Amino acid sequence: MDSGSIRRKFLDFFASKGHTIVPSAPLVLKNDPTLLFTNSGMVQFKDFFLGNAISKSPRIADTQKCLRVSGKHNDLEEVGIDTYHHTMFEMLGNWSFGDYFKKEAIEWAWELLTVEYKLPKDRLYVSVFGGDKDDNLAFDQEAFDLWKSFVSEDRIIQGSKKDNFWEMADLGPCGPCSEIHVDLRSDAERKAVPGRELVNNDHPQVIEIWNLVFMEFERYWNPQKGGSGEMLKFDLEYKGADKKAAREKLRSNLTLLKPLPNKNVDTGMGFERLCRAINLVSSNYDTDVFTPLIRFISEQSNIAYQDTTYLTNPRLRSSEKTDIAMRVIADHIRAVSFAIADGQLPSNTGAGYVIRRILRRAVRYGYSFLNFKEPFLYSLLPVLSNQLKDVFTELEAQRDYVSKVIFEEENAFLRTLDKGLKRIESLEGELANKTLTGEQAFELYDTFGFPLDLTSLIARERGFSVDEDGFKVEMAKQKNRSKADAAKETGDWVLVGDDQKPEFIGYDHLESEVTVVKYRKM
Ligand code: ATP
Ligand code: MG
Ligand code: MG
Ligand code: MG
Repeated sequence: MDSGSIRRKFLDFFASKGHTIVPSAPLVLKNDPTLLFTNSGMVQFKDFFLGNAISKSPRIADTQKCLRVSGKHNDLEEVGIDTYHHTMFEMLGNWSFGDYFKKEAIEWAWELLTVEYKLPKDRLYVSVFGGDKDDNLAFDQEAFDLWKSFVSEDRIIQGSKKDNFWEMADLGPCGPCSEIHVDLRSDAERKAVPGRELVNNDHPQVIEIWNLVFMEFERYWNPQKGGSGEMLKFDLEYKGADKKAAREKLRSNLTLLKPLPNKNVDTGMGFERLCRAINLVSSNYDTDVFTPLIRFISEQSNIAYQDTTYLTNPRLRSSEKTDIAMRVIADHIRAVSFAIADGQLPSNTGAGYVIRRILRRAVRYGYSFLNFKEPFLYSLLPVLSNQLKDVFTELEAQRDYVSKVIFEEENAFLRTLDKGLKRIESLEGELANKTLTGEQAFELYDTFGFPLDLTSLIARERGFSVDEDGFKVEMAKQKNRSKADAAKETGDWVLVGDDQKPEFIGYDHLESEVTVVKYRKM
């Protein structure tokens, strides 16, 4: 089944169950102080869950553009190395705001996966929350009993608080969740080791596809205890070991749970993983969400993807590096393009710098492993936009503009990339303790435009490390030096309505060699 049909089937299925289908919210958030990017489907519905607003429709479904590259969910380092974590991905979701609850959510999830998508039942595992004594949280018997009518008990896993209990924050709505995992290993492998032992174990072929969150409680300060004052004191003063666990313990001590009067359902299914599972392939990149991009990259670089000739000819080097580079580029171009289409230009601060970092990471992979010495990423725009033009019209509508922004960014970074890489090579010979100092990493940042995570990535590849704390010290020093300039910072957010495109006005050459692309805001 092709990805377009898979997405449509999801939306049609939930429409047939009385859901209103809504568009994806933008990838970039501008009025949420806690979050830079939308990182799950529920973000746009937060106010409904917090009781600040009421949804016109009690049942909603959609596909949401998500980005997981910062904060609580940061999957950047896995991308391309593994085959199922992306920076930008679509999260399919269905919601109930005080309407249906566990019974329907579980029943429909199972029906959709096994009847509509025809996923083999003997490859599926489900998990339920197993309870947590320290936090007085009960085992989710209700979900367990509901699942038992569809799957045998040996396919139901009791998960921990970490995997199977959802909370938005220290206080507020929370509840147990059930996850659905798929085992894509070969028959022989599945016979040898039961899949249930591999669930939530980072096995590349036993992966989570859907998370069903049952929001049924509200966590609040216990009026008999010290509340937020105690918590704040802990946050500021605690210096002991394992701060996270100690904080959790304190929090459960200071709070109580009460049932929510209106129970909600919040589900999220990774679209690219679903496409992989339905087609029983061993990588998200082998689905038609990615193959057009990979094919284009492979043709342009003249390097085969997943080239196996090296297996028979030991003198040829492994294609692993070039494969990773192609996956990274196919992934990153999506994140960067959608962010720009949603109004976030690459820049030197905040969300804009996250996008610039992703873009420079992709440029370096192309340059070092695929021989792209000239701007290349921008040329992927027609391929990407053609794939998604019926779903996310914002990309097609701004295709040339997005492509131009990316071209300018690539061009600017390529001016210093090679010199920066040579600089790393020359430093490498003289490293003390195989560690690049904070000053050296800062020089790469300041003179050659290397974001810290890029320097660290290259260091990892070459077998040395970077003094990241030292880098931060240098960065703080520079910030102090240029406080006056920082005060003039006007922010990096622009609204890109059709007639409001920021205009590219050239490069800003600093004293160092870093070239910064400049835009004029309309
Ligand atoms: P994982 O354990 O695999 O990192 P998760 O538990 O962090 O996933 P959730 O927060 O439960 O993920 O998100 C709901 C669904 O979104 C997941 O079941 C998965 O299918 C998908 N998903 C999560 N992170 C990614 C990602 N980085 N790339 C692609 N899909 C993802
Ligand atoms: Mg995760
Ligand atoms: Mg998980
Ligand atoms: Mg999950």
